[in-house]
Amino acid sequence: MHVKKQRRFLSTIILTVIASACSSEIATNDEAATEVQYLFVGGNVFDGSGSEPIIADVGISDGKIVFVGDASSTNVTSADTIDASGLWVTPGFIDAHSHAVLDEDYGKDAIPYLYQGITTVVLGVDGDGTSDVADRLQSWQTNGIGTNGILYVGHGHIREAVMGTDNRAPTQGELDAMHALVRKGMDEGAFGLSTGLFYVPGTYASTEEVISLAQTAAEYEGAIYDTHDRDLGAVYEGVGYEASVEEGIRIVEESGLRGVFSHYNLQGAHNYGRGDVGAQYINAARSRGVDVWAAHHPYTATQSNLRSYTIPDWAVAGGQDELVARFDDPETAEQITSATNAMLQIRGGADRILFVDPDPELNGKTLAQVSRERELEPAGAVQEILRSGNKGVMNLQLYDDANTERLAQEAWMMTCTDGRTPRPDQPITHPRTYGAFPKKMRMFVFENNLLTPEFVIRSFSGLAADFFRLPDRGYLREGYVADLVVLDPDKYRDLATFESPRQYSEGVVHVLVNGQSAVRDGKATGALAGLPLTRP
Ligand SMILES: [Zn+2]
Repeated sequence: MHVKKQRRFLSTIILTVIASACSSEIATNDEAATEVQYLFVGGNVFDGSGSEPIIADVGISDGKIVFVGDASSTNVTSADTIDASGLWVTPGFIDAHSHAVLDEDYGKDAIPYLYQGITTVVLGVDGDGTSDVADRLQSWQTNGIGTNGILYVGHGHIREAVMGTDNRAPTQGELDAMHALVRKGMDEGAFGLSTGLFYVPGTYASTEEVISLAQTAAEYEGAIYDTHDRDLGAVYEGVGYEASVEEGIRIVEESGLRGVFSHYNLQGAHNYGRGDVGAQYINAARSRGVDVWAAHHPYTATQSNLRSYTIPDWAVAGGQDELVARFDDPETAEQITSATNAMLQIRGGADRILFVDPDPELNGKTLAQVSRERELEPAGAVQEILRSGNKGVMNLQLYDDANTERLAQEAWMMTCTDGRTPRPDQPITHPRTYGAFPKKMRMFVFENNLLTPEFVIRSFSGLAADFFRLPDRGYLREGYVADLVVLDPDKYRDLATFESPRQYSEGVVHVLVNGQSAVRDGKATGALAGLPLTRP
């Protein structure tokens, strides 16, 4: 690391701001030098609040940001002084809805995320979070993780644990058992309750069931409701986008939780150009005091599983064996076929369904291709494939860039990857895992100047810290934890594409996680510096 001494000229205003921000422990001009562990000098410092950047030096010691100001005039020094001139120095980014695989050896280093500047990921989303929160957090502590991790307890997970995949209301005893699991997860440090009301078995739950369980989570101060809501606009015989958003807002309002709509956007060609509608729902709810937020990623494709996209809910009830039994009954199979045809039409056809499953027979092929290879109609190929279990797929072109752009302008919109770490042997995966954050910056700041960098950085950091009520992260301020990113705005770019997704983003020069170097000079260090975070 080269050391560069340089004189910086700060305006009177900036000096005044820095002087008032400086901690009194830092030496003044005539005192002895204060030595810090790392000193980033001369960068454009974004504090994560949405304020314009200032040119300043940032000192780190013992995992904390200990200095923001003019190091030379205050005698702050470091044996590890890093030139940040021309670079952006920002708080570490928070992936507000993630599927990072921190629990497996192949994913625990979180490198695709670190190369975007992400230092905290939020997991247990879409209703899928275990209620064994303490065990999972402990395993992260034991095995090490590359970013910090936050967990929700998941409604779908606990419903399945208590009543399998039955398509019915719970008995009072089952509901009591679910309440107990929500309480267990919250007691063990979950940040809130997540639902996946689009997915089996969450889709079998009534709004009232969810409100009831959410009220238990709401007994915990600051608890969150994270929802993959019931119908983002492309659900076969669904409730429709509008009713689905209204349901999510009602759950927040009646439970007293603070809500976040996951990957908030409108699905299906019939919803292209309707971003205003999505924005208005949240703005109207907020203006009457409902604490509702959202997060999004900037891609037009979703990723989920073949069964959810092509098989009606009623045919999945009871589990895999019952599904196969329905395929084996000619009359039922025919009903499923006609539903599958309708579902594929809503989703844009079989050539918009792309397999991202590790299965090498399928990975990277569209459903249309696989159907041709097998000389079957798409609905027939779906049934053949699902006989041996569910498969991961993307749905291409389900979102509209214009909607994403419209929603990106809202002050309550956080940023997420929604991305799952691929298995090592899986070539094709969703590029969002590798590029969501720089792609958002590229689309809305570098390419069309729609948003300011400070606004987008806030959506990556301070905004999410406010939502998750992280007391000492998400902002670049003295006393805060040193989750920190130094990036080169001339190079910060996503490289992952749908054709070649497994490419790390470029332009992130340094990343600190809890004050430890996780990326240095553009190279991941392999440090497992993340911490399991529990609800404050
Ligand atoms: Zn989701």
